Amino acid sequence: MHQATRERLAEVGNSIADDYMTLKLLAAGLARILWERQRVREGAEPTTGLLPQAWRAGVTRLWWRALEQGIEPPVSDMVVFAWCRRPLGGWPVRLDVSDSDAESMLIDGEELSAFADEAARLAPKSDAEAELTENRAFARLQATAELHGRTEEEVQQAYVSLRLFLIESPVVSDLELNKLTGRFKEADRHGRLYVRDFFDAAYQYRKTGGTAFCRVCNDCGNPLHEGVDVCGTPGCGGVPVIRRLKVLEGYYVQHRGVRVCMHDPGLVEKRLFDALGDLPEGRARLHRWPGMDACDVAVEFPDPAASDDPGRSEWWAGDAKDCTSATMLGRSFTWNQRMRARHRFLILPWHRFEQKHYVDDLRREMQGRSDGVRVISEGDFVSKARVRALGGTPW
Ligand SMILES: [Zn+2]
Repeated sequence: MHQATRERLAEVGNSIADDYMTLKLLAAGLARILWERQRVREGAEPTTGLLPQAWRAGVTRLWWRALEQGIEPPVSDMVVFAWCRRPLGGWPVRLDVSDSDAESMLIDGEELSAFADEAARLAPKSDAEAELTENRAFARLQATAELHGRTEEEVQQAYVSLRLFLIESPVVSDLELNKLTGRFKEADRHGRLYVRDFFDAAYQYRKTGGTAFCRVCNDCGNPLHEGVDVCGTPGCGGVPVIRRLKVLEGYYVQHRGVRVCMHDPGLVEKRLFDALGDLPEGRARLHRWPGMDACDVAVEFPDPAASDDPGRSEWWAGDAKDCTSATMLGRSFTWNQRMRARHRFLILPWHRFEQKHYVDDLRREMQGRSDGVRVISEGDFVSKARVRALGGTPW
């Protein structure tokens, strides 16, 4: 190896060994490239001919990594694009990724894979961050909730309704939307409903008129393309059905970012709420996204001697996470310190809990910095909470 190359390598050596950082940068770059491509297809002028900064930084890191391993560095961006369609474990440059990630790819068909989607969101912050539809939708959701309650409890109730609406309605007709606008009536001084701002940030409009026929999953409700014969949503085993929507003029479909970040991970949250909703009354209280999302789910077990005093209750709190990469989840997971609880959990949906190597990789990454958070499956969390509510000892 050339002396100058060797010196340069020594300079960046420590950080390039973090291949997850390289993947995050490549994923963020790809997200930008695919977004740009989509805009151009829809008739917009291309913003710049240059490849995104994140992509170039990722490719440079790969390049150094190749030299370090004594193999031929990628000769062009096209070569790296081609790698992005291969499982991570099979790239010519050997990447230090965990076993549970070795089969993941960055591009799946013509879209960003779920893995790349997560990775891009964990990339060092960029200007694009504020533009992400899911961030905008989430900010408007919070604002709408705050404008529809006089007390903390009312605001929390509004927040829960709006968030559940996103999980229950990936596709919604304009007539069904009236149910939402009938309940959230606050408007700005021009008479525009605040809930409308939230809604417009989260959904795309499709004009039809009369009746609309949508191909959706019979289980989670996500729209499915023609030719797809199983729902690809993580953990969903549903199949396509044609849903007939009665509309006035059209219907709405969730933006992809909102679906991926709020609807899909919300499915496990909803299952938890449904299962915990029938815990014996008086012995356990369910809290959904308490403190406007300080955590996803909390169960309060009142002290029988002072059941009206929440200060004497025992609290269990959990964050439900449905992520493709156990390693990235483990490295990025932090407990929100606003949420105080006797027992803290990271709750995994069944399909992750049963995935090979997943739990081991996750626990290894969380070791030493887990804040006493236990990794548990959704089913186990519910059954332990039930045992506790009935006065048994779950541990
Ligand atoms: Zn589905």
